[in-house]
Amino acid sequence: MAAIYIVEDEENIRNLISYALNNSGYEALGFGDGASLFTQIDQEKPSLIILDIMLDGEDGYEILKQIRSTKNIEDIPIIMLTAKDQEYDKVKALDMGADDYITKPFGVMEMISRVKAVLRRIPSREENVEEANVEFKDIILDLNKRTVEIDGEFVDMTFKEFELLYYLIKNRNIVLTRDQITNEIWGYDYEGESRTVDVHIRSLRQKLTDDRKYIKTVRNVGYMIED
Ligand code: CA
Repeated sequence: MAAIYIVEDEENIRNLISYALNNSGYEALGFGDGASLFTQIDQEKPSLIILDIMLDGEDGYEILKQIRSTKNIEDIPIIMLTAKDQEYDKVKALDMGADDYITKPFGVMEMISRVKAVLRRIPSREENVEEANVEFKDIILDLNKRTVEIDGEFVDMTFKEFELLYYLIKNRNIVLTRDQITNEIWGYDYEGESRTVDVHIRSLRQKLTDDRKYIKTVRNVGYMIED
């Protein structure tokens, strides 16, 4: 049975989510704050975490960041709960490595279907676990530490920029369409801006100080990295 942890300080919402998940065949466990979550993660790594942004004390972003930067737990799928009309929160959550978000108030059915969708697409992340480093020209990606080194210098990347760069390098010499990139990096259910890919490619290029020597634009199609 897949264990799902819920972090939400509002007891009513936490109980509602737990109840719905338990009824759908998941083993749900609720937590009011980050500290109790991390204590439990040490005992058992969950299949997924539903994480509210607005919490007393450590907020959802800090917890997300901590999980994504901690070895062995950095790959736990995470769905964030965001408040209505907080567009910025959604973008920020996805950029920091959340797999999806649910906007409050939400229906129980919607929540369950999002949980299922995220759990379905997760195995892809484990494909290259044994491979520790990926090299391309003067770029070195450390898949365990999630660091990027270019010509001997470390470059800070957001979670999504790292995923994007890794995806391009893995598929070097293949043209990737915007749809393919969106599906791979943001998931099939992603309903955000269609220009998200372009925006991330642009910031990636800036960080790579790329005058298109790495990432090539294929007009009207998408992008590729060429040997
Ligand atoms: Ca809350």
